[in-house]
Amino acid sequence: NVAFDSEAKIACDTIKKDASRHWAVYTEELGLRHQMQNYVREHLDQAMAKGYIRVYLQPVVRTLTGELVSAEALARWESPQYGTIAPGIFIPVLEESRLISRLDCYVIEEVAKLLRYQIDNHFPMIPVSVNLSRYDFLLMDPLAFVERIVEQYHIPRYYLRIEVTESALVKNRHLLIEKLHQFHQSGYQVWLDDFGSAYSSLNVLQNYEFDELKIDQGLLRYFNEDSRKIIRSIVLMAKEMGIHVLAEGAETKEHIDFLRAIGCEKIQGYYYSRPMP
Ligand code: C2E
Ligand code: MG
Ligand code: MG
Repeated sequence: NVAFDSEAKIACDTIKKDASRHWAVYTEELGLRHQMQNYVREHLDQAMAKGYIRVYLQPVVRTLTGELVSAEALARWESPQYGTIAPGIFIPVLEESRLISRLDCYVIEEVAKLLRYQIDNHFPMIPVSVNLSRYDFLLMDPLAFVERIVEQYHIPRYYLRIEVTESALVKNRHLLIEKLHQFHQSGYQVWLDDFGSAYSSLNVLQNYEFDELKIDQGLLRYFNEDSRKIIRSIVLMAKEMGIHVLAEGAETKEHIDFLRAIGCEKIQGYYYSRPMP
């Protein structure tokens, strides 16, 4: 029975990397997830062409004044078949299948179009940051692409910022140091995303020239005595090193008051706004 075989395989694949487990149970939820992953792989191009993938923007606010200082571009997939697919589902699939660079190029171009629209209409301008995956650096030349887009749409480099996650720096270290250095040399600000989430290595701050450090929202989630000490220390350290610092995932008034008290420069989080179309 083919269907039975494939369900068994789906279940087994979930424990492939865990040698301590000898069996797994297939559930409907697992099946749906599997279907969605296949869907993502097979429909990326169509979704971009038809505009099912949209770029949302989440504001970043200056802590002291509450003014809007920049925005982060975040991809949203509104599929006619599955409804909204979360980045938590489609980003890992696109990374595994090495399709992520196509999405990231699409997002960069959409942001460039938006900035062009603002300029053409004499609307206020704020810098927009885009997320790069570490695979982008293996699959393509992100700087060459960004440069081409910036020229095509006549966007001042100041308005396009690059976010790279901390986990990106664990592998391919030397390649990344070089590539990020080139971004910097070409006049782009480079931000370190999700600091404090994975294999935090303080080395990273020493070897790369980051303009801004984004503290991972995981640290605000706990919000106990210890996590507050950690956040306070990160803010102090960043200041000592002359790196701008932003806290992600601020949801409550308590979060904001705390971040203001410890001198965290910028805030991004649901307290101010969710990502918006
Ligand atoms: P990220 O770059 O760290 O983006 C911040 C995530 O935190 C976003 O989730 C945002 O919606 C969420 N967030 C912001 N404020 C709050 C808050 O106060 N509370 C909570 N609970 N969450 C908050 P999102 O949009 O689901 O994106 C998840 C991750 O997917 C991003 O994390 C980023 O790593 C990745 N991603 C999203 N779009 C792209 C893209 O176009 N390219 C690449 N390579 N990665 C992307
Ligand atoms: Mg980010
Ligand atoms: Mg982040």
